[in-house]
Amino acid sequence: MTHNEKTIAAIATPAGVGGIATLRVSGAEAIEICDKAFVSAKGKKLSQLSGYSALYGKIYDKKQPVDEAVCLVFKAPHSFTGEDVVEITCHGGTFVMQKVLRVILDCGAVPAEAGEFSKRAFLNGKIDLSGAEGIMSVINSQGEQGLSASLNILEGSLSRKTDEINNSLLEICAHISAWVDYPDEEIEEINEDEIIVSLKQAQSELQSLLDKFDSGMAVTTGVDAAIIGKPNAGKSTIMNLLTGYDRSIVTDVKGTTRDVVEETVNIDGCILRLSDTAGIRDTGDTVEMLGIERSREKIRRSAIVLAVFDSGDELTKEDKDLIELCKNKPVIPILNKNDTACRIDKDYITSALGEAVEMSAKDGTGLQELKDRVTTLLGTKNFDPNAAMLANERQRQCCIKALDSLKEAEFALSAGVTLDAAGVCIDDAVSALLELTGKKASQAVVDKVFSNFCVGK
Ligand code: GDP
Repeated sequence: MTHNEKTIAAIATPAGVGGIATLRVSGAEAIEICDKAFVSAKGKKLSQLSGYSALYGKIYDKKQPVDEAVCLVFKAPHSFTGEDVVEITCHGGTFVMQKVLRVILDCGAVPAEAGEFSKRAFLNGKIDLSGAEGIMSVINSQGEQGLSASLNILEGSLSRKTDEINNSLLEICAHISAWVDYPDEEIEEINEDEIIVSLKQAQSELQSLLDKFDSGMAVTTGVDAAIIGKPNAGKSTIMNLLTGYDRSIVTDVKGTTRDVVEETVNIDGCILRLSDTAGIRDTGDTVEMLGIERSREKIRRSAIVLAVFDSGDELTKEDKDLIELCKNKPVIPILNKNDTACRIDKDYITSALGEAVEMSAKDGTGLQELKDRVTTLLGTKNFDPNAAMLANERQRQCCIKALDSLKEAEFALSAGVTLDAAGVCIDDAVSALLELTGKKASQAVVDKVFSNFCVGK
């Protein structure tokens, strides 16, 4: 029996203590295995139940009762995995759940690997790869819009969109190969201008998916954001204002935010993984130097940078260095401490980094303007959770691959290269989109996707 044919079991609810917890068992022998451990109060066997039915009773370890339980039976193919499934709900203690799992394993199940229930659902054609990734997106969602967008992916919004693009490309491919391969048949002549129009249309749809990627990430799992500025500019105070409580240490001794402090905040539906960094400052202090190095790295990796300046101070070399570091990044310059007399060169900052937000982190003025700038910059303000959206970097890479191939195809056609060369490029684009939905993904890709899932999912 291969691993995929074995019956798997895992605890599906999070580790820790709770009122109840659920153990999932899936596979051809799921019902038979659970019947060995479970005795219902009415004396009825799980194998006598039809799908979507439940029995109340007890789990036994040999003759010894372990816990009360409700067993819910799903019959193949009408279950999440497409196999017979039993969900055992017991009391949610860590020890008792482990004990119930042990009993089920002793009765013949094997431990499920990470994501194996979803992988089986994929292999049995219940969900496609992007739908499976939608499940992870739902689990990891941190906000209202993100949850709704992830649910749409799970329900196939992205697959429908990519299928639509693919169908139009397949039509072109079929026409080209018929024309090239059967020159003697009466096949409608290829109109290259019409093909270019269709290719442009497909490219613009892929480009629009790519353009929405960052805002999609920002409303679902969140994006990295860095607050940078010289020591004492007010970074920790702004971070505390955004997070709503005193997470960073705020003092007026320069360099107190020694390390990178991370916090997730929800700014009007846009999720930022904010990190308050050590100030960018030339210093002989090795501890602080380490922090600064990490800050530079953090800026490089962040999707958005909040660059904080003390408007009560004249611009220093440190400020100017910081401005250089932020150029060409999505950055919001912040002139903090506008409750004090202004001595900073606003024009220098605005001309280098764009319009600044003027605020006082101390009394909270300008906070809403800062939030608006964040949601505008990340494009989450007008985010449509019902539109198709890419859920992760893997899908984004497939989309980029498809778009590049279509650009090549268009170039080949306009440059008058042979039709079959353009056909090959369109074919590559189709393959990339089929890999995105998993309809033509290699085993390695499938394994990689599901290895990122949690056990029990
Ligand atoms: P950081 O080193 O950039 O993280 O700066 P902090 O947030 O620790 O702030 C340094 C000092 O500036 C603290 O004493 C804060 O209370 C003060 N501060 C922060 N924001 C403001 C502000 O908007 N106005 C005024 N007057 N003081 C502020």
